[in-house]
Amino acid sequence: MMKALSILLLGTVFAHAELRVVTDFEGGNAEVVSLDQTAGRLRIMPALREGRGWPCWWFLRLEGTTVGQEITLEVQGQTKPFRPETILASSWCQPDQAVLSHDGKMWRQTSKAERTVDKVAVYRVQAEGPTLWLAWGPPFVPSTAETVLTQVKALLGDEAERFELSKTRDGRPVNGIRIGKADAARHVWVNARQHAWEAGGAWVGRGFAEWLASPEAKAFRARCCVHFIPIMDVDNVAVGAGGKESLPQDHNRDWSDAPYHPEVAAAQKHIAEIQATRGLDVFLDLHNPGPTDRAPFFFGPFGFERMTGQQRDNYQRWMDLAAAHITGPLKVEPKYRYATYVKTEEERARMSSGWARAHGGEGTISVTLETAWNTPHSTAENYMLVGAQLARALDAFLKEPRR
Ligand SMILES: [Zn+2]
Repeated sequence: MMKALSILLLGTVFAHAELRVVTDFEGGNAEVVSLDQTAGRLRIMPALREGRGWPCWWFLRLEGTTVGQEITLEVQGQTKPFRPETILASSWCQPDQAVLSHDGKMWRQTSKAERTVDKVAVYRVQAEGPTLWLAWGPPFVPSTAETVLTQVKALLGDEAERFELSKTRDGRPVNGIRIGKADAARHVWVNARQHAWEAGGAWVGRGFAEWLASPEAKAFRARCCVHFIPIMDVDNVAVGAGGKESLPQDHNRDWSDAPYHPEVAAAQKHIAEIQATRGLDVFLDLHNPGPTDRAPFFFGPFGFERMTGQQRDNYQRWMDLAAAHITGPLKVEPKYRYATYVKTEEERARMSSGWARAHGGEGTISVTLETAWNTPHSTAENYMLVGAQLARALDAFLKEPRR
């Protein structure tokens, strides 16, 4: 009887599976434009989360698929403005290769999208069972961060300490971890996801933290201390919003004397304390750049070319060590770029890297790593490799005394 029933049910599934788009989970986001059940053709655009920045991130679960079923996913830009009179260019939500998963855990890239004349990216994928997960890139949500922090703490015991940086405006915890001893001579602050959509930056952070927790980093942990926040904009990551250019300003334009976001205020307080007691050596902010940036690069300090003396030497030494260590497959550009698109001194001062420069010491360096997401190498594994390589560069950098 059971066997007969299951065969009957299977038959039903194969014949008339109803495709259904689900997004009510951590980081989920998709606005369904159309769904052709017969053709297995789904058109989406990133859903607009009012006031929560760029509609570029999307992440959905398609239910009702069958083994071997061909699915055509079409992604178009959000048609409504995310800020008054500003519609986001569709290229931000259309990676050459999106990602898919059959279990919601293991992700791999789709084949390359075809692009239509009306700016739609078309991804052709194949289901292997009743559920298919599709996303802009490998998702990294607050529960992923929790897993990383738990594992690193379990590996390191007394060599690490977890802490809650703050609660967000919506009451979610922003968690971090201190790796190494609080009274170490050398201190580093690293945060990722000030822009919620930039999931790749968080994967880089994961690789970075996991290297620091590895046996290879034992000596590093004995002399240095890293303060690491895997996700700053927890609220927008949790609801699948882009975060960038959110209202009144996003996290990386909020480093003023009166931050809007409590986690930014808390980070400022921690960093000021570090600087006042032991001194801050390095501030690192992890991001993802634009769709046409095909290699990782660092944003360096404005006015670097005019810098002289020790400060310039420190920044140059960092760049040289980063280029020597971040060697691929996502190979970092060997020269700094500068965020010249930020036009006013006032806005530049509200960026975290600028704030850290202004509130650090003579020996502090503050840089932003932008890891390319729109390449065949932009996978979770390769992002993590960039993170490990970044950590090795940091290890080398801190082998020389602060000057
Ligand atoms: Zn960013």
